[in-house]
Amino acid sequence: MITGAAKVAGVVGWPVKHSLSPLIHNAWIEALGLDAVYVPFAVPPDEFTGFIEAHCGGSLVGLNVTLPHKTAAYEVAQTRTEAIEQTGSANLLLFRDRVGRRREIHAQSTDGEGLEVAIRSAAPKIEYMESAIVVLGAGGVAAAAIDHLELYGGEDIRIVARRKGAAQALRHGLRRSSVCRRAFAFNELEAALDGADLVINATSAGLNGVGELPAMDAASPEAVFMDMVYSPLRTKFLRDAAARGHPTVDGLAMLIGQARPSFEAFFGVPPPPPEVVDVRALCLNALGETD
Ligand code: NDP
Repeated sequence: MITGAAKVAGVVGWPVKHSLSPLIHNAWIEALGLDAVYVPFAVPPDEFTGFIEAHCGGSLVGLNVTLPHKTAAYEVAQTRTEAIEQTGSANLLLFRDRVGRRREIHAQSTDGEGLEVAIRSAAPKIEYMESAIVVLGAGGVAAAAIDHLELYGGEDIRIVARRKGAAQALRHGLRRSSVCRRAFAFNELEAALDGADLVINATSAGLNGVGELPAMDAASPEAVFMDMVYSPLRTKFLRDAAARGHPTVDGLAMLIGQARPSFEAFFGVPPPPPEVVDVRALCLNALGETD
C-alpha cells in the first residue's frame, strides 16, 4: 500500500520506456511491504538539470540515471564519490536532507558493483591482478568498469575502441597511472586479445540488434566473455563466443547487480534475495527471453 508518507525513487532517461529498473525495484518493494514506489521519468536532455533541481526534495529520495544523462548527473551534483570524480559519469543521484538548508544532491555509481556481480557469476575465482582484461568501448560505462577493475587489482587493461583517440583519451584520463593500461583500435584487435582472460563489451554495439563488433576469433578458448548489453539477452557477441566455447555472462546480471546497492541507498534496507523474489525471471519474461 502506498500512503502519503511513501518514499519515491525512480529512473530518469530519454527514452526510458525500455527500462527494466521499475520492474526490479517495485518487485522488491512489494516483497518487503515497503511504503514506497519506483517510477520512470522520461526527461529530454535540455530539461534534465531543471528537472533535478525542481524535484530533488520532499518524498523523492533519489534517482537512477540512464542514457543520455549520466554526465549531466555528475555535473548537477554538489557531492560525489571519489570513483566518479575520475569517470565524470553517475548512475545514481541521492537527495540528502540538510537541516535548514536546501537538499544536497549526491552522485555516485553502482555500475562497478553490478559488473563485479556479473563477472563473479561466470568466473568466481578470477584474480584481476593476474589477468589480462580487454574492455571494448571508451564511453561512460567503460570508464566505470576500468576504474572498478583497477581498484580491485587489475594491472593489464586493454581498451579497444572504434576510434583509437577515444581509447587513448580514456587510457590517460583515469586516476591510477601505475597500471599497464593500453589503447587499441578495432584493427589492432588481435594484439589486444592476445592472452586475454576476460573480454567485456562496454560498447552499445548489439543493442536492439543494431551495430556489430568485429570477430573475436583471436581470443584463447578459456577467456570469459561478458556483454553489458542485455536487450537482446544473447547478443551476437555472446552467441559467437559461446559457439567458440567461451564461458559467457550477459548484461542482465550486471543490471540486477547495480540495482541492489541503489535500492538499499534509496530505501535504507537491502532488497530481498533471489530465493524470495526472482527478479531475473521477471526481467526475462519482460524481455520475452528464457535462460
Ligand atoms: P556511451 O554512449 O557513453 O558509450 C558508448 C560506447 O560505445 C562509445 O565508446 C561508442 O563509440 C561505442 N559504440 C557505440 N556504437 C558502436 C558500434 N556500433 N561499434 C563500436 N562501438 C560502438 O554509453 P555507456 O558507456 O553509458 O553504455 C554503453 C552500453 O552499455 C549501452 O549499451 C548500455 O545500455 C550498456 N550498459 C549496461 C549496463 C548494465 O547494467 N547491463 C549499465 C550501463 C550501461 P563512439 O564514441 O565512437 O560512438
